[in-house]
Parts: sequence; C-alpha cells; structure tokens
Amino acid sequence: MPKSARKAASKSPPKSPPKSQARTKTRGNKKPYPTKQTASRPSRRQAEAAITTLLSYIGEDPSREGLADTPARVVRAFEERTQGYEQDPLSLLRRTFSETAGYDEIVLLANVDFVSQCEHHLLPIVGKVHIGYLPSNRIVGISKLARVVEIFARRLQVQEKFTAQVAGTINEALKPRGVGVIVEATHHCMSGRGVAKNGVVMTTSSMLGSFRTKSSTRAEFLALVEKAAQHKPL
Ligand SMILES: [Zn+2]
Repeated sequence: MPKSARKAASKSPPKSPPKSQARTKTRGNKKPYPTKQTASRPSRRQAEAAITTLLSYIGEDPSREGLADTPARVVRAFEERTQGYEQDPLSLLRRTFSETAGYDEIVLLANVDFVSQCEHHLLPIVGKVHIGYLPSNRIVGISKLARVVEIFARRLQVQEKFTAQVAGTINEALKPRGVGVIVEATHHCMSGRGVAKNGVVMTTSSMLGSFRTKSSTRAEFLALVEKAAQHKPL
C-alpha cells in the first residue's frame, strides 16, 4: 500500500458496528441480555407482554396513559436488578496483590449495603454484609469485595445461599487462612405482607477456615464487626 493511501486509510473513521451489535455491547465479561428470543430465553418483547398480562390480571387497564410504558420500565428495572447472572465474581477477584509487608491480621470490610430480591416472592431483601478474611499471602482491593456482594445480590436469592456464595467465592479466589461473612437483612416478603413483622432482622453467617476452627479468630472478627456497627461516618 502506498504511503498516501495508508495515511488516508488510517484517517478514515472506524466503521461503526451494525446496530444490533452496538445495542448489545457491554463492558468486560458482562454478557448482554438477549434482545431476540433464543432457544432458552424469551425476548424482551415477550417479557414486556408478561408484565402487561400481570397488569390486566390485577384488573388494571394496561393501555391507560400512566401504564403505557410500564411494562418496558419494569423489564428494564428487572434486568438491572438481576445483572449479577451475567457477571463472574471469580474473574473479578483474579487480580490480587502479594505486597502485604507481612500483614497477616484480619482484614475487615463492614457495613456493605446491599439490595437483593428473594427468589420466593421477588420482593426486596435489604441489608448489610460484613466480610472478614485472614490473608495467607494475597490481598485484594476492598472495592472488589464490595463488588462481589453486588454481583450475588443482583441475582434471585435466599439469604443463606447469598451468605455462602460470598464467603465461598472469596475463599476460592484468595485462598486465605480463613473467611467470615455475616449478613443482616430485612425481608420485604415478611415485613410488607400478611405476616407483617416490621423490624425483624435475619442474620446469617458463613465461617470458613480459621474463622470456623479457631474460636479466638471468630471472636476477634465478631468484635471488629460490632465495633464497626457503632462507627460513625468519618
Ligand atoms: Zn420471600
């Protein structure tokens, strides 16, 4: 290719991808939701039709002005709240750091807020997660731990499974000497329905490695979490 032609070629703007591709473009390892029906998943249009059916089912008129865009909005909001299925928490934790200057005490990340949805009623589970781990020789950025919480929260959940998934993922990725995860949450399917028990908090925990086998490590973790709970914002 002559020089001038090469120059012209490098100047021409990059071809924009076809529209269908552009629409489904996402960052990193996040897979897009299907815009078309696939063998295993209905299309977005079919999902919106399902919401329209629900609106009719409760005696509403889905064609009235206020509800005209509701099915599309509900499906979008539902996609956002279930994005965690498209994300891989293990690959997120792949980048670890070994420069710890010999630090081998508990690392604690307390009061990580989350909102999830219970898989039995699709109603919110709202709460906090406390994560502690005892590094062997690798640590990870603390924002990554919060992202792991987010990924599992954005799936349909039961609190017990959520707790075990967060602990198990950190354990698998960092191979620390121990991991402790405590989740405290209120379940709207309980507080907002017939059983109406406001203020009921469910607590679950998953203790692995030394957090399970050494009572002194577990006690230290619990004391740190308690201290963090009383902590005023800096
Ligand atoms: Zn529920």
